[in-house]
Amino acid sequence: MRAMGEIRTQSEGHFEMLWDCDHCGAKGLLGLSQRHCAECGAPQNPDKRYFPKEGEAKIVDGHRYDGADRHCPNCNAPAGAAAKNCTKCGAPMDGSKEVRGVAAPVPKVEPKKKRWWIPVLIISIIALAIFGIWYRWIRKKSATVQVMAHKWTREIAIEEFKSVREEKWANEVPRDAESRSCYSKQRSTKQVKTGEETCTTERKDKKDGTFESIKKCTPVYRSEPVNDDWCSYTLRKWVQVDTAKASGSDLNPVWPDKGLPPADTPASFGAKRQGKKTETLTIVFPDDDTCEVSDAVWRKYKDGQKAKVTVRASSGDVVCDSL
Ligand SMILES: [Zn+2]
Ligand SMILES: [Zn+2]
Repeated sequence: MRAMGEIRTQSEGHFEMLWDCDHCGAKGLLGLSQRHCAECGAPQNPDKRYFPKEGEAKIVDGHRYDGADRHCPNCNAPAGAAAKNCTKCGAPMDGSKEVRGVAAPVPKVEPKKKRWWIPVLIISIIALAIFGIWYRWIRKKSATVQVMAHKWTREIAIEEFKSVREEKWANEVPRDAESRSCYSKQRSTKQVKTGEETCTTERKDKKDGTFESIKKCTPVYRSEPVNDDWCSYTLRKWVQVDTAKASGSDLNPVWPDKGLPPADTPASFGAKRQGKKTETLTIVFPDDDTCEVSDAVWRKYKDGQKAKVTVRASSGDVVCDSL
């Protein structure tokens, strides 16, 4: 199985956020090292920083992160987190508010055309199918149906104690198995680490004029076959080889009794015994409609009797549970 949560994260360092000057229109100014516009000297608006394009980010070597920039509670000018007093008006920075920061860019997804009629169509088809099944197979009504005949069948399985060749995995072979021969073949698969990783890089605005680039990597797995021993072997056991059958159209079912082996034959090679016994009792209605029923229900109705029963509304077949 593939273990989840094996994500390895690694910081790739801090990089300059960018900002554009509102005053003179200078573009691509550096968030950390240019607190004022290089062209006109206007102060930076920390709420309008943005991420540089992929591959164009400028790294800040040995950056010490003190925390997000803050707005002065008195004059609203931005200042670094380490500042005790506002650099513009001198007011203490106690109770100051963090700058807003920007969310990492989300890859654009092409908007899909909404096809409102597809779910409507699917729901209609399902509703129609449910109605069709109900109309054809479930809908019932009462009816008077004539009982045409009673039938019975009784069967006894004839078993022989003989050698059979079977195949199973080595750990599932019975203890009394003989002449066993095995070979190795694939039983399952297991997930193995290839040593490679798939990685994505996330950018997080640190709100001090820099962003941190964080690499997240997950290991790559491949599936490998797991082999086990598959064995064929001989086992002596009772196996059904024949069926003795009796049937009739009266109300007196009997078990077949001609040429049957005893039921309690000891297990020895080539011996035969009686196996499972099964009885089937059937009531016949018009148009070869039949119901298999219990002995009590079978004897409740007489041939020729008109019985009040439940039938399928569409086919007229008797609902056997209603007998
Ligand atoms: Zn400027
Ligand atoms: Zn201030």
